[in-house]
Parts: sequence; C-alpha cells; structure tokens
Amino acid sequence: MPDRSVINALFPQDLPEAADWPRRYPPRRLPAGAEVTRFAPSPTGVLHIGGLYTAAVSRALAHQTGGVHLLRVEDTDQSREVAGAAGSFIRLLEAFGLSPDEGASVAADAQSRTDAGVRGPYLQSERREIYLSHVRDLLRRDMAYLCFCDKDQLAANAQAQRASRSPLGYYGRWAACRTLSDSEVEDKLAAGTPYVVRFRCPHEFPGRVRIDDRIRGSIVMQDNGNDVVLLKSSQETAPLPTYHLAHVVDDHLMGVTLVVRGEEWLSSTPLHLQLHTALGFPVPHYAHLAPLMKAEGPSRRKLSKRKDPEAAVEYYLSAGYPPRAVRHYLSGLANARLMDLPTAQALAAPVRIHEMRPTGPLVDLPKLNSISREYIAALTANEVHAQLLSWAADHDTDLHTALTADPQLARQAISVAQGTGAQIRKDLTRWSDFRDRFGFLLPSLAPQHPASDDERFDGLAPALVHRIVKDFAANYQHSDNAAAWLDQIRAVAKRHGFAPDTWHWRQNPDHYAGPPRQVAGVIRVCVTGAERSPDLFAVAQALGEQEVRRRLTLRT
Ligand code: GLU
Repeated sequence: MPDRSVINALFPQDLPEAADWPRRYPPRRLPAGAEVTRFAPSPTGVLHIGGLYTAAVSRALAHQTGGVHLLRVEDTDQSREVAGAAGSFIRLLEAFGLSPDEGASVAADAQSRTDAGVRGPYLQSERREIYLSHVRDLLRRDMAYLCFCDKDQLAANAQAQRASRSPLGYYGRWAACRTLSDSEVEDKLAAGTPYVVRFRCPHEFPGRVRIDDRIRGSIVMQDNGNDVVLLKSSQETAPLPTYHLAHVVDDHLMGVTLVVRGEEWLSSTPLHLQLHTALGFPVPHYAHLAPLMKAEGPSRRKLSKRKDPEAAVEYYLSAGYPPRAVRHYLSGLANARLMDLPTAQALAAPVRIHEMRPTGPLVDLPKLNSISREYIAALTANEVHAQLLSWAADHDTDLHTALTADPQLARQAISVAQGTGAQIRKDLTRWSDFRDRFGFLLPSLAPQHPASDDERFDGLAPALVHRIVKDFAANYQHSDNAAAWLDQIRAVAKRHGFAPDTWHWRQNPDHYAGPPRQVAGVIRVCVTGAERSPDLFAVAQALGEQEVRRRLTLRT
C-alpha cells in the first residue's frame, strides 16, 4: 500500500473524511418497520413503463410502512446523458401522482441543480466530493488500488481471456496493477501516467454467495471476483465514480433500507454486497423486480424500447389514459389480486412484496383499457370535465379551445358522453376517445355537412336523401319530449315510403324504400357526422335547436 501521503496527494487537501458525511445529515425519525426506498434512474433516455412500475412499487412500499421514498438521478455516466431527461422524469412522476418525498426538485430546472434537500444533493454528479472521500478511505485501507492499465492493455487482456475461454474482467493474473509495488506506483504517478481506482476484490478465487431477495427469496450465485473500477480516469478533469460505488455510498448515506430495482441488477449484487462490507456499511434489503413482458404469438419477450410504443411512459399520457388508471394497472401487475378491484380501492390497498412473482408480468393493453373505461365511467361529471380539460390542454389544443369556448355546452357534451341512470355509457377508454366519439357535440368541432351521395347513407339514392333531409328540417320541432321528438323521424320515414318498422320491412321489402333505421341514419350522419352515436334525442337536446337546424343541411 503506498504511503498515506501519496494517497492524500491525489485528493483535494480539504476533502472531508468519509466518517464526516453521516454527521451532516439529521437522523431520520421513522416508525419501526418503516422502509426508505428510492427510484434511481439514469437520465439516458425516455422514461420506460418499467421505470414507472419500479417507482410506483418502491414508493408504495415506503409509504405503506410510514417510510420515505426518494428520487436520485444517477448521472455518473455523463457520456450517455440525454439533455432534459432528468427533468422529464420528474414531470412524468408528478403527472402520475408518484412524486417522491425527497429529491423531487433535483433537476426540475436543469439550470439550477443545487437542491440540497434533506439528504441531498440527489443528483450524483453533484456528490463528487462525497464519493472521493470514500474512494480515498478505501485506498488508505488498501481495499482499493490505482490501476494504470491503458485501453490497449485492457483490450489485450480481453482478447487473451476470450482465447483461453476465461471469464472477462480484471482479476487474478490479468490484474497486473493489483500487485504493483509502492515504488512502482510512485514512479508511475511521478511520470504522470493516467490511472483509475479499482476495488480490491476480497476474493482471489470467489466461491458462491447467498443473496436474500424479498421477491426471490434466498438465491445462491457466483460471487464477484472482479476488481471493478470505482473512480474513472484521472485524465478527466473531475473524474466521477462509477455507478457501483456511487449508489452504494448514496444508499447508505440516504438511509435507504430497501433497494427496489430491476432484475438486470441482480447479477451485480454480489459486488454491491462486497462494496457495502468494504465500506463498513450495513447491507440494505433487496427486491429485484422482474421485467415487464409482452406476448408475441405463443411466446413472451421483454417489452422493448425500440419495438413497442407502449414501452414509453409518454405514450400513456398522450393517448389520454387517466394516470390513476395506469397506476391501478401497474399495481395489478405487481399484485394480481388488485387488478379487478375498483381503482380507488386498488390504489388504497397495500402492495404486498411477497405476492410479487419472480417472472415478469405481461403488459396487456386490453386489460388496461378495461380498467381505464371503468375508472372513467365511475367519475362524476365535474371530474370528467376537469381531467379532460387538463389532458386536452397538453395534448389536443383544438379540443381544449372547443371545451373552454362554451363551458355550458362542454358540460352537456360530457353528460351525453356519460349517459344517465340505467344508460351509463362506457365509451371512453382514454381521453383521446372523447373527440372521436363526442367532439361533434361542440360547435367548433362540428362535422362538415355531408354530400347527398355520402357513402354513410347506406346506398340510398341521393335524391331521396335530399328529400328526407329537407322534409325533416322543414317540419322540425325541437321537442323536449323523447317520444315526440323521435316520432318526427317515423313520420318522415312514412312520408317517403319507408316501412313503419323492421318487421314490416322484412315481410315485404319490395314494397318499401327501406327500413326506418335508414332514415334515422341519414339524420344521424347530418347531426353527428357519424353512423354510430348516442341517442339522437339526447344529442339534439345537448346541441340546442339552432345548432340542430344548422346541421340539417347537405353539402351541394
Ligand atoms: N441507475 C440505475 C438504472 O439506471 C439504477 C440501479 C439501481 O436502482 O440500483 O437503472
């Protein structure tokens, strides 16, 4: 081990001691059994639905035990950082009602990344000093060492390892710098040779290690034997630590008790356990979540950022799935028993970690659609109005303008969309459906007048369509009595040779111009712009007399 003064000279002279850092944070006063969990994304792209799932599960596990959930942005790999990603994670978590208790403002404003928070900063690139203290501490205790191998040497190692079918990595006879003498280290430093700091893995011949995972139980796996890099190259102006070191230090200092993260990190957990031990930290509990899957024919595969639009969290927002319905769905993926409860109940119920399966749950949009449809159907008119408006403000400005132009009409349109009494409608699965199904109720989204040969007129002769519309308009009475209103359609049908009902028409099709529903269809297409719509009488009441009359026209 090089002389302490040699090690000290590699670090700022005023660098705090590792033991100083815990003293800077107030102890958490939490009830017994409270879990502190974190969501620790790297800002390297868009937020994946699997990330939202991890955030939702780990936040629930903290909150239901009276604990704390924090957001930490893991940006030590700055070459992979995507500008604005951290800010968008925060915005998305907030949109889904999953804001953390600590760390939320970390990068909300990318310009001022200075949030100290309770145990912050929560942005790893702002915690460099903290990591350096711990790297120096490991060096002083000979649990880490300087490695001067350059890219070429490492590539030669890898090539030789492949040729001899040895595991890849820096270990054993491949770890040349592990055994450098103090004077060799000092000479290299004096010559200005760039270096990284590597962990001195405690085992030269690692055996098996047991990991207790809250989801998978006790797992025995190959222990780490690799001297991984802890601090990146001294050639960089301000080298940052690697994720492995940074997150271990952070989880400890932030008081994390339960690490909930994706299964892809399970294979690094033996290394993380070694790092906790080397640093003298108690080991947190772990829960590795199985990845979200997608059915492809008879088989399953991981949901893919590249292939599946529904892998991106933004997809759910722009499609207009209500965030609470998405959260309900995610809880159901975690604990199947929550899937079929009403949303309010599902969101209030605890997520039970022991009910989570080690195999990945299938993301199945039809199931989400049905949760979402039921959720919207159970909302009050005011809630629908508020949520629809807020969705439209971000995702459909024409709809937003149409809804705000005449709030009274907007409310009427919503009440038609919801239906009443025994006729509760469940037409809305996502807010984007509103415009397609009910947008015609708002004057600024009114359909164009159809032409008399419009194909939606079911093959009726244009001249006949003309006569029907003209007659209906000329005699139109804006009655508020449903039966009287509908009788007007029957009367027009009769006057133009249509059967009084389907039965009569079937008995003698040659005798009639058609069944009466064809006449209703003509009026429907004029008034609503679609072949299917809610009850025409209700539509007419919502539109008002003037607007109904305006629509009873054909394009010439
Ligand atoms: N920053 C890691 C990621 O991007 C998180 C790993 C962890 O949660 O420990 O997935």
